[in-house]
Amino acid sequence: MSEYPKSPLMGQMMSQPLLISSIIQHADRHFGNNEIVSRRLEGDLHRYTYRDCHRRTRQLANALAALGVKMGDRIATLAWNGYRHLEAYYAVSGSGAVLHTINPRLHPDLIAYIANHAEDQYLLFDACFLPIVEAAAAQLKSVKGYIMLCDRGQLPSDSKLPTLLCYEELIDASSDDYAWPIFDENSASSLCYTSGTTGNPKGVLYSHRSTVLHSYASAMPDSLNVSGRDTVLPVVPMFHVNAWGLPYSVLLTGAKMVFPGAALDGKSLYELFEQEQVTFSAGVPTVWLGLLTYLAQNNLKFSTFKRTIIGGAACPPAMMKTLRNQYGIEVVHAWGMTEMSPLGTTGTLQTKHLSQSVQEQELRLQKQGHAIYGVDMKIVDDDGRELPWDGATYGNLLVKGQWIVDAYFKNEGGDVLQDGWFPTGDVATIDADGYMQITDRSKDVIKSGGEWIGTIVLENIAMEHPAVQIAACIGVCHPKWDERPLLVVVKKPGADVCREDLLKFYEGRIAKWWTPDDVVFVESLPLGATGKMLKNKLREQFKDYTLPTV
Ligand code: ADP
Repeated sequence: MSEYPKSPLMGQMMSQPLLISSIIQHADRHFGNNEIVSRRLEGDLHRYTYRDCHRRTRQLANALAALGVKMGDRIATLAWNGYRHLEAYYAVSGSGAVLHTINPRLHPDLIAYIANHAEDQYLLFDACFLPIVEAAAAQLKSVKGYIMLCDRGQLPSDSKLPTLLCYEELIDASSDDYAWPIFDENSASSLCYTSGTTGNPKGVLYSHRSTVLHSYASAMPDSLNVSGRDTVLPVVPMFHVNAWGLPYSVLLTGAKMVFPGAALDGKSLYELFEQEQVTFSAGVPTVWLGLLTYLAQNNLKFSTFKRTIIGGAACPPAMMKTLRNQYGIEVVHAWGMTEMSPLGTTGTLQTKHLSQSVQEQELRLQKQGHAIYGVDMKIVDDDGRELPWDGATYGNLLVKGQWIVDAYFKNEGGDVLQDGWFPTGDVATIDADGYMQITDRSKDVIKSGGEWIGTIVLENIAMEHPAVQIAACIGVCHPKWDERPLLVVVKKPGADVCREDLLKFYEGRIAKWWTPDDVVFVESLPLGATGKMLKNKLREQFKDYTLPTV
């Protein structure tokens, strides 16, 4: 972090560091009676207020201090979205320690790698993850104790874990008299590892300043648009880039929070949306598939749900249309990444677009959107030359801003910036109005005869077909063209379509040479720990596939 020159005349406004503890203090002081509802692992609903949450957060901060946790120490969590996880978010960061959220869907060996790399001191975990923790424990070098997020009396008596503590006992034994420390806003607040689809995961170390600024910016009307009149249900897990910042932005605005716990199936989600009158949600496209299938099978509608953010992977236009036209839900397409805290762009219209045709508006909303204030972006060619914003030229997408990674934790990967810009690894176009559209991840793009074919476009078209549940497109070796597209498809339950019909479906929708060379039908597609398609697994699976065009 560099020092900037000082003006001879400095402003005379209060200088208060941007600290995460200020969010929970604000939430308690100004919206203390507002509710946080959590579906617990036991299946029941837990409810309490922001004020209760703040009190228990202070108790947890005292408990951690009594365990010897100091500023800068890393405290790990392996937990679903719920009130205790939220308490850990604020108690750990607020006291100056660093919250390290680990994705429980990772293999125990990878969890051990991450926890060792982060040098985690304590590990807080949901009871359902005990087997994973036990499987990883022997390899964990720095962990001094394990804290199970459970009630008194729920601790297993036969666990092999060396120091196993009960969360509620720690809380009960601790005073709520705790003054949040004031420190430099650039101090580390939390740590998230990238999913490591290629190579080992790398840590992104957020600061209090970056987190608070991201929370402000992400709550704005043309970002996530969180308001005090919303009831927000984050489906995106708190272990996936801090649930896209919602644990902070929701409390900052005084909205009601609803946590789904581990029950992410269509039925459980639908019931929670209805019972708690949820108005706003956020998640990756694959979770909405489950929910939409459940709604269709049971002929159900939502009564209060009005708006959702879909991101983390390209939202298929067919899904947007179904949500909008059949269920009256506004879909905001968002793009970002772990390295960006995560929010970079959101797809909302400006006044000048309102007079355009519905079709033009739909096409615009399918893009990943405009940069939110605090993020700048550009597209460049392989030599780093900036490319035009014409909506057609695609290039490598670079970003910079206040909540974008400067270097990975412990400097893994060395100097990652290019002239102060972070290369996202995505390939995109930007149009004259500043709307960015992702064509592909650079490692997924298909190189056919020296030209690029974007797989997202091919997948989106396939998913417009009424018989297609989900589709993925990968490049397969071709002696003449280097690579050609292969479409891998999961059909909707009870629906049927053949290869020829699906290929015909591309006619007129796309340049002929982009049409996939072949279609394979499968039962399911490999999904990663954050619910995204694992294209590398798919490429591995089909690496010896012979295309009919060979
Ligand atoms: P990982 O998938 O490696 O865990 P992230 O969760 O940080 O990493 O995902 C970031 C990547 O996800 C982006 O670089 C981009 O490729 C993809 N992504 C995120 N949002 C979108 C979107 N709306 N459309 C297309 N791709 C997206």
